[in-house]
Amino acid sequence: MWSNWSGYVSSPNATVSTPASFPELASLLRQAARGNKAVRVVGAGHSFSPLLQTDGLILSLDKMQGVAEIDRATGTARVRAGTRLSAIGSALAAEGLAMENLGDINVQSIAGATSTGTHGTGILLGNVATQIASMKFMTAEGTEVQASPGENPDLFEGGRIGLGALGVITEIGLKVVPAFRLKLERGKMNFDECLARAASLAKRHRSFELFWLPHTDSVLTKVWNVTEEPITPTGLKRYVTEDLLENFLFGLICRLSKWAPSSCPSLSRLCAAFISPGQHVEASHLMLSTVRRVRFNEAEWSVPAERGADALREIRAFIERKSFPLMFPLEYRWVRGDNIWLSPNYGRDSVHISVHQYRGMPYEQYFDGVQAICLNHGGRPHWGKVHSLAAKDLAGIYPRWDDFLALRERMDPKGRFLTPYLRSLFGLHSARNQPG
Ligand SMILES: Cc1cc2nc3c(=O)[nH]c(=O)nc-3n(C[C@H](O)[C@H](O)[C@H](O)COP(=O)(O)OP(=O)(O)OC[C@H]3O[C@@H](n4cnc5c(N)ncnc54)[C@H](O)[C@@H]3O)c2cc1C
Repeated sequence: MWSNWSGYVSSPNATVSTPASFPELASLLRQAARGNKAVRVVGAGHSFSPLLQTDGLILSLDKMQGVAEIDRATGTARVRAGTRLSAIGSALAAEGLAMENLGDINVQSIAGATSTGTHGTGILLGNVATQIASMKFMTAEGTEVQASPGENPDLFEGGRIGLGALGVITEIGLKVVPAFRLKLERGKMNFDECLARAASLAKRHRSFELFWLPHTDSVLTKVWNVTEEPITPTGLKRYVTEDLLENFLFGLICRLSKWAPSSCPSLSRLCAAFISPGQHVEASHLMLSTVRRVRFNEAEWSVPAERGADALREIRAFIERKSFPLMFPLEYRWVRGDNIWLSPNYGRDSVHISVHQYRGMPYEQYFDGVQAICLNHGGRPHWGKVHSLAAKDLAGIYPRWDDFLALRERMDPKGRFLTPYLRSLFGLHSARNQPG
């Protein structure tokens, strides 16, 4: 049975197929059409929203991975869509190249990461989809369509974040940069001081991120800058911070908090006591690849950068008013504005606020409240994370919404890549005999 990383989205009745070639992929698509089955393409299954929930066919491109070609003249790498970000990182590093930026982990597929607007942090750094120079789709009929600024430019503008609704992405041409090292500096601040300084820290450093620990006044800060300093040996201290504390010990604490939710405030204060300054240097693709072993559910909202601090203050007040039992820190990152139609960063530099809840603990009231606060601040949801918006809400917050719907209709007129969830997202009514 297929299920996502958090275990909350499952598709018990779906068939999962893993084609190994383009002809096999085309043949599976035609077969699904004949059987009137909906088709969803899965990457690493790390989305929290029900994008992959279906009774139809789930196509995995796990056998269609790898960096096919590097073109130094154009500064691009042609990458097969199922390739994991970690594999792209090491293949590029071997050639003295790198991706400009990554999110918090590197286990997603490149097509899955770009299709939901996955991002890292940095006021001058766009989400991963902005690193796309060109892409190749396969339609439900098995026809290939190319998209780049010079070829089908509307498909390029709208298709870089397409939620798997426009066809199967088979290849992505990625813009690459010369390999670089990053120095991470971790620090601790109190909440008010940190929010007062956050915008200037974001401007001063290549990347800045903060984590506020609920039930405390403590904030963990992280800044990253490009450096020529040598790579720090992976010593005991780093193992203790990154694996023992952030995964093993944190996992134990989360289990304890689930068993005794009233202990959350004291456990959170205990976690805050462990925050200590530190620094290390690493190749960029390894630096931006945190290991996340403790499973959770997550919601994330992009708000205009200048509204971020007020939104976070309101969220803190809401959490304290409701006394939710929370162990996971709230995460606060920056993303540069872009022109991708369904990008949460369309037309504006943004702050992203992420909220988490340990797997098995109730999150609905918490996430709903955060959603309401962020919507009041002009929020847009992360497509891969939990939200409860549907077409009527989304149309008002994505200026190019209607253009995307028209593009979807053109690319997939028979709705082969649609499911009931996507139909509600796009405001499309189900007709009888439509795939589900
Ligand atoms: C532990 C954890 C940490 C995370 N950290 C971050 C973070 O730092 N920043 C951030 O922004 N997000 C983060 N996310 C969210 C995650 O990056 C996104 O949900 C991303 O989409 C997952 O990639 P995936 O390969 O698992 O895609 P999936 O979840 O498998 O699929 C996502 C979407 O992409 C579509 N898709 C996949 N492959 C194709 C294809 N070949 N053609 C067409 N459509 C396709 C699917 O149909 C689906 O709609 C995190 C998630 C987890 C679980």
